[in-house]
Amino acid sequence: MANVVVVGAQWGDEGKGKIVDWLSERADVIARFQGGHNAGHTLVIGDKVFKLSLLPSGIVREGKLAVIGNGVVLDPWALFSEIDKLTGQGVKISTESLMIAENTPLILPLHQDLDKLREEAAGKAKIGTTGRGIGPAYEDKVGRRSIRVADLGDEQTLDDRLDRLLAHHDALRQGLGAEPIDRDALKAKLQEIAPKLLPYAQPVWKTMAEARKAGKRILFEGAQGSLLDIDFGTYPYVTSSTTMSGAAASGTGMGPGAIDFVLGIVKAYTTRVGEGPFPTELDDADGQRLGERGHEFGTVTGRKRRCGWFDAVLVRQTCAISGVNGIALTKLDVLDGFEKLKICVGYEIDGVKYDYLPTAAAQQTRVTPIYEEMDGWQESTAGARSWADLPAAAIKYVRRVEELIQCPVALLSTSPERDDTILVTDPFAD
Ligand code: IMP
Repeated sequence: MANVVVVGAQWGDEGKGKIVDWLSERADVIARFQGGHNAGHTLVIGDKVFKLSLLPSGIVREGKLAVIGNGVVLDPWALFSEIDKLTGQGVKISTESLMIAENTPLILPLHQDLDKLREEAAGKAKIGTTGRGIGPAYEDKVGRRSIRVADLGDEQTLDDRLDRLLAHHDALRQGLGAEPIDRDALKAKLQEIAPKLLPYAQPVWKTMAEARKAGKRILFEGAQGSLLDIDFGTYPYVTSSTTMSGAAASGTGMGPGAIDFVLGIVKAYTTRVGEGPFPTELDDADGQRLGERGHEFGTVTGRKRRCGWFDAVLVRQTCAISGVNGIALTKLDVLDGFEKLKICVGYEIDGVKYDYLPTAAAQQTRVTPIYEEMDGWQESTAGARSWADLPAAAIKYVRRVEELIQCPVALLSTSPERDDTILVTDPFAD
């Protein structure tokens, strides 16, 4: 059986929610492997709209196993508030349908404090984080001072972990002019949530191995986007996890051989939330129009997204790094009605041409995009369900995107509705 990894191939917000939902209907196990509640996925199922941040999309479908892997950073209070919201919408969530890796590090209120304190202190150099404590939580993970899910089961372990963690955070807070942590209050808060959280804690790697042996279909659900990757993104304007496909294996406890197909989600134009380089960004009426037609406001923070033309250089780069086998191209209909469309096919930096984005920050800020202009189309592509429904100019645009990024379109999504999808290659096919 095929196992599929879904990753965003740009700066996030590529429209993963719909595609992941579409695939999760056919999967048995749906696993999150990185990030935390900085993600925002909107699922439209019939007349219901579900907004997910931390829970894997499969949670809304009965009979599926939703897994939160060790690569995630977990805010237990955010988790239960999301569970309560979904339960209120009629979704049944139990230890049968949700499993959390026992070695998952926790996000605590002190991580959110630090995220905000740092952003405030950075002034103009801020990253524009979601303020959810993601970065500080990952720092503590690699700094070997996290409190992990399993630590909540034993008071002595919890005490030891708290001592180590607070010695670090109190010193940092002092430097940033913040009060020290109230240790007793934090311990009490953790002991209160522990009996709710622990029943979900499992050796996820074992379940994944068993699922694989039993020939179950596994869907690995990536969050954020490839250009926010801690190593390959536009550092330091990135998130703190590996958002590329390789993290699916290490973030759940599976060998990389378990991955049969990597699906990259690609928006027909480009957006970005937060600070950092963005070569094809538009500050003009075209950019405004993309934002309005595409409803480009963040699901998590409500921030207006920056918009620009499709950047084939960046997508070719991220598809190569993640080993993308096929893309799902989304929001093509947002381009309906443009007289002319531009695609970035290369960069010029200080008079030198590049077919990739160099790493040096100084070069990234001096990039001039090289554009290719194409005819737009006036017809609506919204809701198209076959190639025959698309105007010739739209097909030409899609074909050019495929050529430039050196990767085929597996799926074409033409509206938020599940059925408004043109299927070219089934990622789950053996
Ligand atoms: P953090 O992940 O909250 O640390 O934020 C770091 C950067 O990643 C900021 O530019 C955020 O706007 C961006 N970011 C984090 N999560 C998402 C997401 O799900 N979609 C788009 N951008 C995101």
